[in-house]
Amino acid sequence: MLGFGTDAVMIRPLRGRVLALAAWTALMIVAAAAGYSTAKRIAMASLAEATSHRIDIYSASLQAELHRYDYLPATVALSSEVRELLQHPSDPALQARANDYLQTINEKAGASAVYVMDTQGLTRAASNWNQPLSFVNINFSYRPYFRDAIAGRSGRFYGIGTVSREPGYYFADGVERDGRAIGVTAVKVDLDKLDQAWSHDGEKILVVDGSGIVFLASEKALKFHALANLSPDTRSRLASTRQYAEAGSIDRIALRPTAELSPETSVVEFGGAQPGTRSAAPPGAVEYLMQSRPVAGTDWRMLVLSDAQYVESVARTSAAVVVFAIGSAGLLVFSLRQRRHLAQQTIAARVALQKAHDELERKVAARTEALSDANGLLQSEIGERRRAEEALKATLDELVHAGKMAVLGQMSAGVTHELNQPLSALRTLSANTVEYLELGRHDQVVSNLRMIGHLSERMGDITSQLKKFARKSAVELHLVAIGPVLDDALFLLDQRIRDGRIALHRRIVPENLSALCDANRLEQVLVNLLTNAVDAVERDGRPAPGAAPALIDITAALHEGWVAIEVSDSGPGIDSSVAPHLFEPFFTTKPQGAGLGLGLAISAAIVRGFGGTLRTQPGALGGASFALRLRSSVTQLFPAEDRPINEATLHG
Ligand code: ADP
Repeated sequence: MLGFGTDAVMIRPLRGRVLALAAWTALMIVAAAAGYSTAKRIAMASLAEATSHRIDIYSASLQAELHRYDYLPATVALSSEVRELLQHPSDPALQARANDYLQTINEKAGASAVYVMDTQGLTRAASNWNQPLSFVNINFSYRPYFRDAIAGRSGRFYGIGTVSREPGYYFADGVERDGRAIGVTAVKVDLDKLDQAWSHDGEKILVVDGSGIVFLASEKALKFHALANLSPDTRSRLASTRQYAEAGSIDRIALRPTAELSPETSVVEFGGAQPGTRSAAPPGAVEYLMQSRPVAGTDWRMLVLSDAQYVESVARTSAAVVVFAIGSAGLLVFSLRQRRHLAQQTIAARVALQKAHDELERKVAARTEALSDANGLLQSEIGERRRAEEALKATLDELVHAGKMAVLGQMSAGVTHELNQPLSALRTLSANTVEYLELGRHDQVVSNLRMIGHLSERMGDITSQLKKFARKSAVELHLVAIGPVLDDALFLLDQRIRDGRIALHRRIVPENLSALCDANRLEQVLVNLLTNAVDAVERDGRPAPGAAPALIDITAALHEGWVAIEVSDSGPGIDSSVAPHLFEPFFTTKPQGAGLGLGLAISAAIVRGFGGTLRTQPGALGGASFALRLRSSVTQLFPAEDRPINEATLHG
């Protein structure tokens, strides 16, 4: 349902646009059609008006031309030359006189021919008497103009001359004497010059007779064609009068009316194939505006066909202008709407952007505040951690020192013993020396004093070693020679080793082997390891005199870039239940007072401080073996996978 609703929302604007486009297109089509027809009507009307003026002029000029000769036959009939000839038609002298007269009249009037016929229609005199195609002795009784004139009417006739074969207009009047017709005078006028002057661009001017046959035309090819099909009566009449006999058969003009604008004005299609029954315009047909006027005094009609193509082009241009105008208006409206829409979108986008920006700013501010809070917290945590580290380090130092003191405490019995021996020797030697002095045995005195000196020197050595070991010094890592440090450690345990009859082997390769550490702390580690080894080999009591001595081996060498120091003993070794707790603080298997359980824990912490490791390993002497690994240079890194697995830390 939700999806449908969303679709409907999306479809609605689209459907609206399609409807608007359809409405706009319909409006354009209607407007174009209206523009087309209106423009065509207006253009046709203006063309009709212009043509109407011209047709009036053409028809007036035609009538003027006809009227010019209207009087001439009657005038000629009045002349004595003509009248006397008609009274004596066969008199050659009168014929000659009449011929001269007619020739003169014809020249003055500018007609084609002026001639006189007797009552039988035979020409007795003619202006062209001396020309090859003379009318003299030609009978024109079949011509309508002759028949009209002899009957007392004015003869008017257009036709093609049977002698000259040239078209002309014939005027004829009867000649009477005593109320009786004695002959006919006729004038033939050439109207061709007239229609030749009619040529006008894009216009055809036609004059049709009462039968609908074109006999004058601005285009020669149109002459002697009929506007409509001729009836058989008309055809037989034309044959009898031989009106257009010399022009051959009379075809129909391809003229087809398409619309009648007024009784005298219509739209026609002209040209193309002969018009048939088909209503469609023949191919090649051109549209014309046709206007007609009757020619006064005749049964003729003057037709003017004006090319209406430009009317069509005006109408089409108008339709195109209308379409363009409405289309442009539509585009303008569309583009304005689009611009408004775009502007709205831009504003909306700007508002959304501003909102997003504000939100971002707010979030950044909140995040910054949280960060600065977190940072403050972190700083205080760092401070706390640092203080804790410092406290831890101080504690560790204290612990290391405490461990050292513990070792010293454990060694105190041996040290006391070590010091008591020279002390009692000193006491005895000094008593003896006094006696030797009283006895005067100076050599003995000297010998005793020398021994006293040696003994006090040895005691000084012991106390200075103890003092050196007990010293609380700042830890500094640098390359330290292993040999002298081991010697100092062994010196402190010397008395116990001797008392326990322990065979101790010391091997350092090379002798000057150095490791990165602090000498005092390394000595503490070695003292711890050696003390444990001595404790282990002495656990089952000291070996009986003569028995095989207990063994302690100390080796130091370079191994895979590390300084490897191993302390092994022939004691009972480390029990599997003890091994996991070996490096735990306060873990001890020694009897009360003999151990605090801090030695290995402190030693491991010290070694880790050097960047080294301390671990147990299977011993070669049957007892325990501790392996110490120290860095041989400052740049050496401690490999993570090589961290001691049994190593315990003071932090847990
Ligand atoms: P303490 O010596 O005070 O007991 P240590 O941390 O030095 O404390 O030693 C812890 C325990 O590790 C000892 O009590 C002992 O059980 C065991 N141990 C240390 N060294 C050896 C050794 N060389 N042989 C056998 N056991 C040992």
